[in-house]
Amino acid sequence: MPTGIVVGAGVFGASLADRLALEGWEVTLVDAREPGDPRAESGGETRLIRCSHGADALYARSARRARELWLELDPDLLVESGVAWFARREEGWEADSERVLGRLGIPVERLTPDEGARLFPSLATDDMAFVLHEPEAGVLRAGEATRALVSRAREAGTRLRLGEAVPAGAAVALEATVLEADAVVWASGAWLARLFPGLVDLRVTLQQAVLFQAPPEWRGPGWVDFEGALYGHALVEPHGLKVASDADGPPVDPSTRPLEAGREAVAAARAYLARRFPDLADAPMASAPACHYSLTADSNFVFARHPEHEGVWLLGGGSGHGFKHGPALAEHAAAVLAGRAEPEPRFALGERRPSASFRTAGSG
Ligand SMILES: Cc1cc2nc3c(=O)[nH]c(=O)nc-3n(C[C@H](O)[C@H](O)[C@H](O)COP(=O)(O)OP(=O)(O)OC[C@H]3O[C@@H](n4cnc5c(N)ncnc54)[C@H](O)[C@@H]3O)c2cc1C
Repeated sequence: MPTGIVVGAGVFGASLADRLALEGWEVTLVDAREPGDPRAESGGETRLIRCSHGADALYARSARRARELWLELDPDLLVESGVAWFARREEGWEADSERVLGRLGIPVERLTPDEGARLFPSLATDDMAFVLHEPEAGVLRAGEATRALVSRAREAGTRLRLGEAVPAGAAVALEATVLEADAVVWASGAWLARLFPGLVDLRVTLQQAVLFQAPPEWRGPGWVDFEGALYGHALVEPHGLKVASDADGPPVDPSTRPLEAGREAVAAARAYLARRFPDLADAPMASAPACHYSLTADSNFVFARHPEHEGVWLLGGGSGHGFKHGPALAEHAAAVLAGRAEPEPRFALGERRPSASFRTAGSG
């Protein structure tokens, strides 16, 4: 039986531990914190899952496959609310997405602004050229989904060890022990850059979201205002209605960053709420969580072999859009570890050229 150690029980590491365990590996999963902890990038309340990635087909396919895998894990983790893209231009990310999704046979529809307005009890559409609607997209319950992956991995035999791990050549030092396995995968999120300086280059930024209380008729789709670099979702109980900026925030240390959004971020979210969803202008705030992005230069993920240690792999660089892909990325990684596939060249280590976003126009 092949053996594996995965360091990091965020969505990337938990998905991989789960996949390897399901494929018959003996897996040890290590994390410094409990799975779903708000200090991790995967520990938040909600994450959008959508297939639109502009002209890019790889991530569109990956998101679609991931959706199947999430539903297989537990259909209740996905609020299949649809996602509405507020397209401000006829030709742009949304039009490119529409073409790619059409080609791949992924459900998508172009709505006039008036038709789009019917998706919400009140929506200002004066700046929209059209609304691109993905009816089978939606919202993942992030912290719960991460914990569900870890639970299934454990049911399949994975051992969960809590503690701070340190690279020790091809092995993993964990407190007084040294762990060894056929494959060691560091899926350590924003901490990857610190653990492997000179190999993984990540910008870690503070990101802030605000959730508002809303009446039940506000159950509805996720939404993305690509040109405005904002996104969120209608009411998802018990969390609320979310408004978040997707613009790259200031650099932060993931171990010490704030866990709550600041006053300016809350005021900006309320201003957008009042502008875009006028009936909710005075809605009470429910919560204001802060998190961090771990950004690669080109928004592509990292999955690559360590150049000095044959059995050691690095997995991360979620770049603010990784959550939804977790189980599909793990399927790819597991196939590579088992020798059934070659690693995706885009995920390789080395210098990357800054390129188009896979989130919104707000990513630098
Ligand atoms: C505000 C916000 C909104 C987002 N919205 C979306 C969205 O709508 N859709 C989407 O798809 N994605 C979204 N993302 C991105 C997505 O959440 C991330 O890409 C994803 O969660 C990254 O997961 P990860 O497993 O790489 O990292 P993490 O979840 O951070 O996991 C890494 C884990 O490694 C552990 N660790 C690190 N170092 C060590 C060590 N030395 N020893 C032991 N354990 C260690 C940490 O404790 C942590 O648990 C969003 C992110 C943020 C912050």
